[in-house]
Formats: sequence, C-alpha cells, structure tokens
Amino acid sequence: MRALQTHIRSGQGSGLHLENKDANVPRMGPASILPNIKSPGAEGLAPLLMEHGFPRYRAGQILQWIYQHHAARFDEMTNIAKPDRARLASLFSILSLDPIRVERSTDGTRKFLFRLEDDHAVESVLIPDEERMTLCISSQVGCRQACRFCLTGSSGFLRDLHGWEIADQVLQIARVLRKEGDRTITNIVLMGMGEPLDNYDEVIAALKIITAADGLGLSPRRITLSTAGLAPQIVQLGASGNRVNLAISLNAPNDAVRDRIMPVNRRHPLKELLAACKKYPLDPRRRITFEYVLLKGVNDSEDDAVAVARLLKGIRCKINLIPFNPFPGAPFERPDDSTVRRFQNILLDRHYTAPVRESRGRDISAACGQLRERISG
Ligand code: SF4
Repeated sequence: MRALQTHIRSGQGSGLHLENKDANVPRMGPASILPNIKSPGAEGLAPLLMEHGFPRYRAGQILQWIYQHHAARFDEMTNIAKPDRARLASLFSILSLDPIRVERSTDGTRKFLFRLEDDHAVESVLIPDEERMTLCISSQVGCRQACRFCLTGSSGFLRDLHGWEIADQVLQIARVLRKEGDRTITNIVLMGMGEPLDNYDEVIAALKIITAADGLGLSPRRITLSTAGLAPQIVQLGASGNRVNLAISLNAPNDAVRDRIMPVNRRHPLKELLAACKKYPLDPRRRITFEYVLLKGVNDSEDDAVAVARLLKGIRCKINLIPFNPFPGAPFERPDDSTVRRFQNILLDRHYTAPVRESRGRDISAACGQLRERISG
C-alpha cells in the first residue's frame, strides 16, 4: 500500500550500518523459551495474569512499563513487589524485535530492518517532516496480493505478523527516538510490507496496543490503514469501532486496468470496493485517501484522470498522486513530469484535493521490500 513504499524512492543504498544495540533488551533467539508477555495483547494480558494469581491491575502496570517506560526486564518494574517481579520473570519473557540494520537518507528518512524470531525480516520506515514524524509499519512478511508495481508483491508471501510484532515496530523505534532525545512518533501508517486487512485479527490486536491508554497511547486519528481493496474487511473494520483513517491503493480508472495491475480487483472489483468505502464511517472532517501510483502509458492519460474523477464522485476523499518509482526488474516506468501535472490539473479542476507526493529517501533502498531484498539477496 504503498503510497509510502512507492513514494519513498529507491536507490542503490547509502551506507548500511548496524544499529547500536541496547544490551538490556532481550532479543529474539533460541533461548527465548518462556511465553512472551507481549503476545496476549492489551486485552488478553489481564485474564492471563489472573490465571496465575496476579491481580487484574497488574496488567495495566506491566503494559505501562513496557510500552511507556520502555522497560525490557521485569526487575525494572519498580512499583511491582520484588517477589512478584521474580515470579513474572520465571513465567514470562519480554521479547522484542531485533533491529539489525538501519539506513538513513540524506533527507532524514530512516529505514529499519527487524529480524523476527524465525529469522524472517520486516521493514519499517520513519519519515520526518516539519510537523510530523510518521512511521510506516509492516503487517506481513511478504504479501499475497501480488500487485505488479510492488517489489514486496513480486517476492511472495511468507507469513502473517503477530499483533505484538506489528506493535513492536512502533515500540522499538520509539525507544531509538527517546534515546536520541529526538522527536516522538506522531503518526502511524500501515503501508509497509503486507496487506493489513489480510491479517485482520492481528492488525486489530496491534491497533489495540498502539492506541491503549496503558499501551503506546496514540490516537486512532493519527493512524492510517492502507489496503489494496479487501472490500469485506473494509466493511468489517468500519463496523468494528476502530476509528482509524482509511487509505485505498486505487491505481486505476476502471476494472480492466485494475485487473491487470492488481489481482485483488478480480475478487473485489471497483463497484464492490467503492461501495465498501461509502459505508466506511468518517468523522465530519475526515476523508478517505486514495493512492494512485502513476504508471507510464498504463493509467496516466487525460482520459484516465477524467475517469478517476467520475469514479470517486460522491466520496469524501483526497487523491495522492505518486509517480512510479522503478525498482530493478520493474515492468513499468515513471511518467514524465508534464504528464503528472496534466493528470493532477484535471483532478484539481474537478475540485479534488490531489497532491503529488514528494519522494523521500531517494538515496536509500526505502521502497517497500528493498532493504529486505538486498539483505537476503
Ligand atoms: S503487493 Fe501487497 S504490499 Fe505490495 S502494494 Fe500490493 S497489497 Fe501492498
């Protein structure tokens, strides 16, 4: 979903370096045999602790220590009695994702590669601008959707991330920022590797940790979930009460083009997708974002722009225009700037908000899947 994955441009990487590791943080590895205290999530922790005879309120304390004070060990949790801390440590581990590589762009964009327990890897991208510090996180290792303009899509699917692994990308990068004394994460976008709505339950579990008052405490209004168009799950998300912002990776003016570049469209064609969007509950001043990757000669003509304007009529939305950022072996090219402008002007003339998204991280392999590809390749 790839607004970010595609507008954070690729390049043949600047210096890769290993992050300074925090020796106190237990990382993934074969030694981690105790159940991970993060696994049950915001709602599952209290019942689990109560099964072991702890009071319910202990769950809130532990969540606060982990997600707000960034504690990596039970003995740091000083408002819990020592014998209880020792017992917790005998029952549970506190596992964390392992940031094995970081690339930093000259424009401040940083890309983190995290190693998972099973030695797979996922990426998160931190994008600073004047007002925001946006973190783009992954929801799956690889992706089933096989969008043809996406490197992750071309690499296949390995597995879903667990809810705690999705939330831990936020926690680990928040730790890095706090240590640097830098700004904090202000916005989260689920636009990294994977289709979030194809891993619905774990994504919802992650959102609960990210938004919980005892957890990472971010407002749902600062979270955007981007989907390739799994219409039934869009309806489910809308009905779930999780009031996150919705972004749709649209990329085509009609079913014929969309079928060609996004196989998901054969299962959930535009009519079904847009009907789901119309049902999505929006607060009065919120809009749905439609991401539109412009592919030279495929979906970038003036007629295409007119058709997009017609297609989205009646939906409160903005349209992000993203000139394609080629990756090695990509079957598409980037349109020239005048084509992009013409496309944009047609939408502006029809009263749409339609910014052209600036590319970020041009000098690092910041398009979704590229760092992982380079490491494993
Ligand atoms: S293949 Fe997956 S990760 Fe890539 S754009 Fe499509 S849905 Fe997103």
